[in-house]
Amino acid sequence: MNEYLKHDEWCIIEEGFTPENHQSSESIFSLGNGNMGHRAMFEEQYSGETLQGTYIAGVYYPDKTRVGWWKNGYPEYFAKVLNAPNWIGIDVKINGEMLDLAKCEVSEFIRTLNMKEGVLERSFVATMGNGNKVKIEAKRFLSIVTTEVGVIRYSVTALNFDGEISFNSYIDADVKNEDSNYDEKFWDILNTKSMTGEAYITARTKKLDFHVCMNMRYQVLKNGQDVAATADIIEKEKYVANTIELDVEQGDELSFYKYVSVLSSLNHSKTEISGNASKVSGAAFEKGYGALLEEHVAAWAEKWSISDIVIEGDVAAQQAIRFNIFQLNQTYTGEDERLNIGPKGFTGEKYGGSTYWDTEAYCVPFYLSTSRPEVTRNLLIYRHKHLQKAIENAAKLGFTNGAALYPMVTMNGEECHNEWEITFEEIHRNGAIAFAIYNYIRHTDDKNYLAEYGLDVLVGISRFWSQRVTYSTAKNKYVMLGVTGPNEYENNVNNNWYTNTIACWCMSYTQEAFKYVKESNPTRYEEIIENLNFDFDKETARWTDIVENMHFPIEEETGVFLQQDGFMDKEQLTASDLDPQFRPINQFWSWDRILRSCFIKQADVLQGVYLFEENYDLETIKKNYNFYEPRTLHESSLSPCIHSILASKIGDIDSAYDMYLRTSRLDLDDYNREAHEGLHITSMAGTWMSIVEGFGGMRVVNGQLSLKPLIPEQWKSYSFKVLFRGNLLNIFVSADEVGVINEEGEDVLIFIKDDEYKIEKSSSLVIENE
Ligand code: BGC
Repeated sequence: MNEYLKHDEWCIIEEGFTPENHQSSESIFSLGNGNMGHRAMFEEQYSGETLQGTYIAGVYYPDKTRVGWWKNGYPEYFAKVLNAPNWIGIDVKINGEMLDLAKCEVSEFIRTLNMKEGVLERSFVATMGNGNKVKIEAKRFLSIVTTEVGVIRYSVTALNFDGEISFNSYIDADVKNEDSNYDEKFWDILNTKSMTGEAYITARTKKLDFHVCMNMRYQVLKNGQDVAATADIIEKEKYVANTIELDVEQGDELSFYKYVSVLSSLNHSKTEISGNASKVSGAAFEKGYGALLEEHVAAWAEKWSISDIVIEGDVAAQQAIRFNIFQLNQTYTGEDERLNIGPKGFTGEKYGGSTYWDTEAYCVPFYLSTSRPEVTRNLLIYRHKHLQKAIENAAKLGFTNGAALYPMVTMNGEECHNEWEITFEEIHRNGAIAFAIYNYIRHTDDKNYLAEYGLDVLVGISRFWSQRVTYSTAKNKYVMLGVTGPNEYENNVNNNWYTNTIACWCMSYTQEAFKYVKESNPTRYEEIIENLNFDFDKETARWTDIVENMHFPIEEETGVFLQQDGFMDKEQLTASDLDPQFRPINQFWSWDRILRSCFIKQADVLQGVYLFEENYDLETIKKNYNFYEPRTLHESSLSPCIHSILASKIGDIDSAYDMYLRTSRLDLDDYNREAHEGLHITSMAGTWMSIVEGFGGMRVVNGQLSLKPLIPEQWKSYSFKVLFRGNLLNIFVSADEVGVINEEGEDVLIFIKDDEYKIEKSSSLVIENE
């Protein structure tokens, strides 16, 4: 752990500059607006350790696979989120000396991420080698209104001297990815142009030919008044800059405003991109910093008015949940069905911006409750668009008849993960994709989605499962051999309980979906049957047979669901038997030792118990939780949230709270000492789930919202909002009361602790929390 950030309800605050924390801060203070993002690098030069990262949604590079031992079926490339040209750079010289925090004396350093307003601020006093003292105040944001625009205000005040200050504002396309497999640079430059007041670079990515144009303009104010400053123009092969130099007297403040547009060929034709980039930055310049900031802050207020969670009485928890919500809202806004949510969003390279099962298993519940339905629908359509690729992917592995295996990691639908135990074996991901369709419909009641898109995907997935199982004559049961469950500390196991469970669920749900489409839209039903060449009787009979005769490993004596066949043969230890010095075990143990141990990386059986909770009584849930929690190391960020929800479910509020804090402050307090690589964006949705589904006990039961609220003793109260089938509900919980305000929509019926209440539109209900 590394607790260096100040607790505050709305801001993340770092006081004092500690170079060792800088790369973690670069991740934590990252900015994004769904369309682009960047790490919190400094605008001015910095010769210390830094991970430069500027990212544009959907712009990636297929980096040729690098593995020691090639296995048939491996993908040719790994899709990488691309480090894009750096546009925030402003070199500052004070009387000829370059400002560089690694080379001057720094005092009064404060870095603040204002989450309410979506703004990154930084101020400090620098004493230069030449004795000149300056105060710097920098503020920047990526507009969430005009998402192709980023703006910086960078002010320098001469504290103890008269002389000259220069700003060199640039765009630098000479960038590379640290994780490049062959140390290649991924960009070619198409054109660069620098003029007085404007400069741009248009670059293209190698291989896939994405074009990106970044265009910048500036304005300078001296003590709040516009100054006409003529810029020197610099134009190099991969770099453009405008340099201006101004005289100052002691006490003068110079403010440099940088307006940048960032356009990609995802949204602009390649022939028009440079012209459009000039128009967009020109319009931003005309509108001006103040107006851009004002509309940006207002748009954030709008987002917060639905997605905020308020916790009274625990500042650390309050800050943490807002941080998680803020980062999720920065990463994905749901306007574009070509985009998705990478485990690290716009905050780092590792895992990058590629899509994992994290989206469906963790992010979907967050977006369902905090955004309009189209946002989640776009996430589902993203997978629908990849269906053909998933069928090709399965075909490569030997499956037929339209069976679909969605990739473990993807940008465009093609698999790009290349570890056999994950690529070929971690097939449970298919189940999460089907479950997300069910979850979306359960929450929004948009059943038409099935006929429009959902059923095709469900059939492809069910066909895969029906071919992936084997009939064991020894067991007289269907079995699923050679898989990796969510717990990646086991590979190539037989009958992972979670995988078998979700596979059967998919095959049953697909049949229900067929039934619904047949009744509600017979024409479309016929069309689907024909398009998919679906032999209804034969295929569904096989699915039913598998569902009825699947083998599920179980511990006979206790009735605990076993993670896989043979799990009880392992030496049964618990996490408390491990020396904390040697954790996480994947950094200290050989892989072989990990595989032989009983230690669990992340929720596995419990992931299934969580998803299909309504199938199990409380005793069964308790029994499984009590068996698996002590063996689980939570060495994936996706783990503690699921355990926290189940701990709430079984009434173990203290454990639920501990695990909530761990998941919510994972990056802020750098639990795993890896925040410098980027943030755990997808697990942040799990944090939200720990409050809403965990403490709030929110579920959808038979089409109605149901709450079973608990409150940790550390909190005075908490409240959250939920968009549910046209209603916006504001739910408040304290030790004494549970309140629900029906803020928008018609009258609604909801369950609170199993009693049904009607809340009329625009009215509220308050009951005792017994
Ligand atoms: C987890 C996976 C997850 C991936 C990306 C891994 O450590 O085990 O479940 O999909 O990280 O977040």
